[in-house]
Amino acid sequence: MTDTLQVGNVAIVALLDVAAPFPIPLPTLWPTVPQAAWEPYRERYPQMFVDAETLHEYVACYLLRSDGHTLLIDTGLGPLGLGRRGALLDELQRAGVQPADVDTVFLTHLHADHVGWNLPPEGTPTFPRARYLVHQAEWEARAQHDTHAQTLGFAPFIDRTVAPLADLGILDLLPGERTLTSEVVALPTPGHSPGHMSLLISSDRERALITGDALIHPAQVTEPPWSSVLDMNGSAATATREQLLSRLDDAGLTMAGCHFPSPGYGRVLWVSGQRFWQAR
Ligand SMILES: [Zn+2]
Repeated sequence: MTDTLQVGNVAIVALLDVAAPFPIPLPTLWPTVPQAAWEPYRERYPQMFVDAETLHEYVACYLLRSDGHTLLIDTGLGPLGLGRRGALLDELQRAGVQPADVDTVFLTHLHADHVGWNLPPEGTPTFPRARYLVHQAEWEARAQHDTHAQTLGFAPFIDRTVAPLADLGILDLLPGERTLTSEVVALPTPGHSPGHMSLLISSDRERALITGDALIHPAQVTEPPWSSVLDMNGSAATATREQLLSRLDDAGLTMAGCHFPSPGYGRVLWVSGQRFWQAR
């Protein structure tokens, strides 16, 4: 399986920042889902499970080359990683891209595992020529993001990885849907967080959807009401999943999920009256 997905004239490259056991146990992460209900998904998606109570966490970012632009979608967990340094910058180098080549950093949302490489510890932007884009509602909810992280046992992060971008005047706040290039449109997909956005890529009659964290586990393709404690508004997140999945029923559309088995590319199939995700 290649890390690159060609969608018409757009090249998407998956960049894996971190692959590690997820620190929150499965029953804590998904308190409303009975353990036994996971069984069919353990069989179908073994790459997602480390053991009975531990999920495998993939943290992917995506590089997009479109219309003369170089866009980076999310910046991973960053230099602090999950106790180890994230690999995003090495992955970029492997793809032949220098940080200064990136003209747009698009943040699907402001959770700590999507903004980690925005600024290294020295505080200057990792991507020196880029504008950083995020939905306005994410920035307005920045205090809530820190509180949410602390509730889950993680450190607050906004002052370190997001606020300096606003101080430097390089954080652009989007009020809603936004065309990023002639082939890439950002769509509001709220619920996981207030201003979460996904990207629709359309080129030469081919299409792909980068779903960010609207879906964080392939089981949610079959079970859209399954909300983890990472969803800040579970019912809104479920409604968004239902909407995205009806788009993904279009057989010609590939999805890319940041936390799906790396590199995260797949399709939605109908089998015996149920949707399933299948890696491609
Ligand atoms: Zn995430």
